Amino acid sequence: MTWTHDGLEAVIGLEVHAELLTRSKIFCACSAAFGTPPNTNVCPVCLGMPGVLPVLNRRVVEFAIRAGLATNSDIAPHSRFARKNYFYPDLPKGYQISMYEQPLCTNGWLEILVEGETKRVRLTRIHMEEDTGKNIHDAQVAGSLVDFNRSGVPLLEIVSEPDLGSAAEAGAYLRSLRSILQYLEICDGNMEEGSFRCDANVSVRPIGSSTLGTKVEIKNMNSFRNVERAITYELGRQARAVAAGERLVQETRLWDAEREETRPMRSKEYAHDYRYFPEPDLLPLAVPQPWIDDVRATMPELPGPRRRRLEREHGLSAYDADVLTQRKDVADFFEAAVAAGGSPKETANWITSELLRVVREEKLDDALVIRDWPLTPSQLANLSVLVERGTINRNTAKSLLPRLLRTGADPEALVAAEGLAQVSDRGALERAVGEVLAKYPEQVEQFRAGKDRVIGFLVGQVMKSTGGKANPQLVQELLRAALAQTS
Ligand SMILES: [Zn+2]
Repeated sequence: MTWTHDGLEAVIGLEVHAELLTRSKIFCACSAAFGTPPNTNVCPVCLGMPGVLPVLNRRVVEFAIRAGLATNSDIAPHSRFARKNYFYPDLPKGYQISMYEQPLCTNGWLEILVEGETKRVRLTRIHMEEDTGKNIHDAQVAGSLVDFNRSGVPLLEIVSEPDLGSAAEAGAYLRSLRSILQYLEICDGNMEEGSFRCDANVSVRPIGSSTLGTKVEIKNMNSFRNVERAITYELGRQARAVAAGERLVQETRLWDAEREETRPMRSKEYAHDYRYFPEPDLLPLAVPQPWIDDVRATMPELPGPRRRRLEREHGLSAYDADVLTQRKDVADFFEAAVAAGGSPKETANWITSELLRVVREEKLDDALVIRDWPLTPSQLANLSVLVERGTINRNTAKSLLPRLLRTGADPEALVAAEGLAQVSDRGALERAVGEVLAKYPEQVEQFRAGKDRVIGFLVGQVMKSTGGKANPQLVQELLRAALAQTS
């Protein structure tokens, strides 16, 4: 659904910076690992000392080719690094090595799924560049400190065309792109740690117009939710300005998540402000076709094709298949559980409604963690088989799940050890039903007066009296039989 307001439509393009999971940095042998003590992964090259020479990391190029192939891009046989000149304390050289006129990948596209509809979003370009260091503003010390561990960590800059028409489409695009990079195992996609960062170019224009409005760049959004909220806010702000007859200015604005607004940071620089020129310390990059073919041969199945395969092979809905395939570890978990005997629909349900809820509640969303959980796919399959066989009811299974996740205990053994098996003994349940009917004459009267919903309350009471272990279908059946008899 695209955004429109008072005859205006939204035009949104996104610029993503993805940190690559190479072991070493892009132009030196320093470790690219995140989270090490400040200024421990540094050398004269990434500190920008005079006279040092960068050496391009071959693996970075390979990762960039993977990203290009996965997004249907053209891979340039000849591309070139360029210097982007600007001053900032976290950039010791006074320039960043990036790509400008001759990027590695162009003319790509990817598909997004929004409210059941697929839409193609074009990519302008994907290029390689080095990350900068990081300023640390610490209240304990006077002034700011700089950590250069990140200086020279390889980045992909992925620029979309302004094809997105709403905050929801922008969110879907980011999820889709992140998912592709994670499947390729070239980026961990962690927005909070900054390894997947996004700036948004947002403008409005009269519906159907082909010219672009004045664009505003929004920065400082460190979660999908913040990206969507910032874009929604900004579209509203621009629409109000247009309605009030104000002139919008091209500028960079920062998203303030606490105050839920964007505010001006600086007037937007133009490309010519950076005085780009070809990087004289690096040869032009040649990527011969055999190299591209080699990379293509190692490409994994990507989220889109996998989603369609799961729909086809297991009869899943497009929605379930989409949720399951957004993360590779989740899709792997699903397929392994089905292979271990879980029914596809039940297993999909357990994962989408229960497992992923726990992931969200424990805030595990941004990390690839499922494969490290104690719960194995075959244990989840066993749990769903216990429900299907009627050994335990669904509520008992749900209540066991967090413990299984923590401990990796065998579901069947746990059910036996704790006496959780479902009570399907008619005699015992009939007695419980009789006791509940005797205890709640008022509700019994209401039921007989035609208030069928009261049956839910009565079922609940019987479940409670059996410690939640009764077979709910059987309880319902016995209750209805008893109520019919005594009326
Ligand atoms: Zn270094």
